[in-house]
Amino acid sequence: MEHKGRCHCGALEVRLETPRLPSDQILGSCQCSFCRKHNVRAFSDPRSCVTITVREPDHLQLYSFGLKTAQQVICRKCGVYFAMILIEGDEAWSVINIDALDDREQFIRPTQNRSYDGETVISRTERRKSRWCPTSMVGWPAKA
Ligand SMILES: [Zn+2]
Repeated sequence: MEHKGRCHCGALEVRLETPRLPSDQILGSCQCSFCRKHNVRAFSDPRSCVTITVREPDHLQLYSFGLKTAQQVICRKCGVYFAMILIEGDEAWSVINIDALDDREQFIRPTQNRSYDGETVISRTERRKSRWCPTSMVGWPAKA
């Protein structure tokens, strides 16, 4: 199935291609301080593909904290938190904010609490590469 979404102003777009029905998708509630402030319902699945398209590069805001092993993707114009992305060379993986999708109400499962305290940089990066969605970046500025 294909799902599309965008930030509130449309500067950022996301497309999710996934083999499972939305009602079967497992959603996470990361307990980190950033995700709690946004009350994020997070989605990641290594068998799904994500494309994050930047329509207006001036509005792309990246933020990182803690171990700084990944970056939060936020729209600078409208403030929507979009995704968290790990970029390594030509490859990227992401976990997306499911509520940025147009058909967010189809994802009905209650979220599972997740806490990743205690991970090392290496174990955290390995977990993300194995569990996050392989991600294509379209229209991103050369140095985001
Ligand atoms: Zn926006």
